[in-house]
Amino acid sequence: MAEDETGEIDALSDGAEIRDTDIVFDCPHCGRSLVIAYRSAGLQIHCSQCSKDVLVPIPDGMQLTDLDLDSGEILKQLFATRRNYQKAEMRIQSLKEKLTQMQETFGVLQEVVAEGLAEE
Ligand SMILES: [Zn+2]
Repeated sequence: MAEDETGEIDALSDGAEIRDTDIVFDCPHCGRSLVIAYRSAGLQIHCSQCSKDVLVPIPDGMQLTDLDLDSGEILKQLFATRRNYQKAEMRIQSLKEKLTQMQETFGVLQEVVAEGLAEE
């Protein structure tokens, strides 16, 4: 199981052994059966077959202790989540600014068109 810098985890490939602590589910896009470690519950992964984003289901009655992560690891993930959240907020802010600029440009264009029509 490879984990890249963004924390995304690829689904295990065929022939991998399934343990009790693994989550087995079908990709909602291509239907491929995916097997992933318990600790990936609730994470977004890429399907190993169709490469689409897939949300790993959280098993019923799962406890935080089932995650098989020490508190340091959980804290690390929490901080990573907070960083991603902050990045998303900044992106929203910059998109809002862009939208405002486009609306202003649109307003100016509308005035130009209105003036042009008035002169005819
Ligand atoms: Zn798939």
